[in-house]
Amino acid sequence: MTDQNYKDHIPEIARRIEEADAILVGGASGMSTANQHDFYGYSKYFRDNFSEFQDAYGIRNLCGALYYRYKTSEERWAYLSKHGALLFDEPPGQTYVDLHAMIKDKNYFIVTTNQDLQFSKLFPDEKLCYPQGTSHYLQCGVPCHDDVYPSEEAVRTMAANITGTRVPKDLIPKCPRCGEEMEPWFRSPVFLEGTFWQSYMRKYQDFIEQNSHKKILLIELGVGPMTPNIIKHPFSVATYHWPKAFLVRINKDEPPTHELLRNKTITLDADIADVLRDLRTHMQAPLAITSN
Ligand SMILES: [Zn+2]
Repeated sequence: MTDQNYKDHIPEIARRIEEADAILVGGASGMSTANQHDFYGYSKYFRDNFSEFQDAYGIRNLCGALYYRYKTSEERWAYLSKHGALLFDEPPGQTYVDLHAMIKDKNYFIVTTNQDLQFSKLFPDEKLCYPQGTSHYLQCGVPCHDDVYPSEEAVRTMAANITGTRVPKDLIPKCPRCGEEMEPWFRSPVFLEGTFWQSYMRKYQDFIEQNSHKKILLIELGVGPMTPNIIKHPFSVATYHWPKAFLVRINKDEPPTHELLRNKTITLDADIADVLRDLRTHMQAPLAITSN
């Protein structure tokens, strides 16, 4: 993308946000990577917080730490709880702050594959859907029943009692019904897509039913190619079929969007933090001039 293309697109996207009757946001890992919370890379965040896991297991990123085959649950929960407690403590990153400032007073909804709690720091739960689950909750690891349970207290207690790369065995959360270990409520072979999951999907569906015929702007933020069936493909199909829909895709190294969507899409292959900052600045500029 040339600089001129970029400069032309910012005012157009800003105008579309302002004029939209509804905004559907799809947010994925790029939103957090832009704030140095990098799930896949050997990041400063990982080195600063998890060097003991690198030393003990040779792990070099958060994804590796999550899926590493620890020999004991005490070690696995040391990582899960330490990272979990950090997620509860971390303030919202700048990309989230900028997005919130731009859409908070609009009719909007957010679907996210992120499990890092960042959207929930600023946006109310009724505006969020987590098809891949969220670290806010635990479920039975079997699972023997359909309920999910808030994770924060158990996570913080374990994190506060880590020695080296282990938590005490008796602090590992157990299912209140069958006594087996709990699991974080996010995508895994035992991930529960029961009543609770469906309640989130229902909110998403309700928003679509109420707004798909309107002048709706779909904004895709930092959605990579890993799970295209959750956000990327549904957003493409929706944009194609909904009569007044328009799609904005923002992601570094984003390939061009399909020819069928050529007149209904802007694709910005650019740094997501730069784009959201520039959009917000552009949208606030008229106010700044007025107040002076
Ligand atoms: Zn159970």
